[in-house]
Amino acid sequence: MAGSRMKLELSRVIQGRVRLGVLKGLGRTGQHSLEVPGCLLYTPFGTVPHLTQDTLHTLSKLPRVSQVTLSNIAEHQEVLEEFKDGFRKFAGLHDTVLYCSLHDPAAPCPTGYTTNKTVSVWGSGGRIELTVAKFMALQKSVQPDWYQSMADGETWQSNTSRKRVRKSVDRTLAHLDECLLAHQNSKELEGVEVFGVVEGGDILEERIRSARETAKRPVDGFCLDGLQTGSMDQALRIQLTSAVTKELPEDKPRLLQGVGRPDEVLDCVEAGVDLFESFFPFQVTERGCALSFSFDISPDPERAGSTPPTVLELNEEDTAGDMQQNGDLNLNDQTQMTCFEINLKDKRYQDDFRPLVDGCGCYCCRNHQRAYVHHLLVTNELLAGVLLMIHNTAHYHGFFVALREALANDKLDLLKRRVLRGEQTERKE
Ligand SMILES: [Zn+2]
Repeated sequence: MAGSRMKLELSRVIQGRVRLGVLKGLGRTGQHSLEVPGCLLYTPFGTVPHLTQDTLHTLSKLPRVSQVTLSNIAEHQEVLEEFKDGFRKFAGLHDTVLYCSLHDPAAPCPTGYTTNKTVSVWGSGGRIELTVAKFMALQKSVQPDWYQSMADGETWQSNTSRKRVRKSVDRTLAHLDECLLAHQNSKELEGVEVFGVVEGGDILEERIRSARETAKRPVDGFCLDGLQTGSMDQALRIQLTSAVTKELPEDKPRLLQGVGRPDEVLDCVEAGVDLFESFFPFQVTERGCALSFSFDISPDPERAGSTPPTVLELNEEDTAGDMQQNGDLNLNDQTQMTCFEINLKDKRYQDDFRPLVDGCGCYCCRNHQRAYVHHLLVTNELLAGVLLMIHNTAHYHGFFVALREALANDKLDLLKRRVLRGEQTERKE
């Protein structure tokens, strides 16, 4: 938008597609920045689940952009309007850039409720129907720094018809135009940045049309919607994502929604994606697991080469989990466990006195052992979630730091090999 301060400075573009750089001039005061490829902090209600601000800040190198979701905030509109000072202050946040997305990537979103004029979000109290007017009124009460424009994203089911996909693209563009008009006429939203939403389901032509048309609008960045884990296989996601990023301007960030698994993240970075949501470590925490995959690519002879590289093989359970991720999401479902984590509920950890991950500097790994976390989990202590969330958050964001280092040093292939074989090493023990 006119007057926007956000600026994407790319330091490297590899093979015309993989982008390394910094988003500068973020927030109302413009003093924040965010490195790309990067990840937003997942804070569905303004804080990272399980963690207070103090606990969170025992971790370093966290992103300065937090993602809140309208689905969780919408039911509190009246309270926020009465409060007047915006969601950031309401949630006790001060030093973060706030991005407001429509849906919670870790929560189920029933389909069948979009109309020409409305989309629905689902909070704890049920469904809330949003018109553009209500959507924009909500943004004014939230006062984010960035927000995702209202979009019809109901295309992720595999049998979605071409007609439905076309309609979702048309409606999303119509919603965007209406949002932009309201935005430009709003004093409260001056300097706030809008992310246009690229839809198009699994149809290549519709994806390209959506990207081109959205790019014609005065948006500050792009959300790639309808490509989330569970909606399609990875090969198709990469094909569509690559086609979309080709159509988008170089100087604006691309945020991919609903993709969080490390292997998928790496592929999508190669397809030109800059930003991801960090709901994955939360899902891992909720099933009592700890991220343990390796992303260490430092030339340490003792670690490197100790085990032969193995190709990641997804077991059937993982695939089954993926398929139902959006429609029937069960956070405690162990069948959704991926090969990047260890299950601390497993009896084998009851007398394992090692930290969750050797060499991890997080509070949990510095102070506690796997056996203790196992004990907390089997006795249903809330502290288990706190400790796991600390570690999983640290581990996941550490992965993104390693990813940028790998890009800066031409070592993406090495990182990919390390990430894909990491947990395999662990399981052999
Ligand atoms: Zn740790």
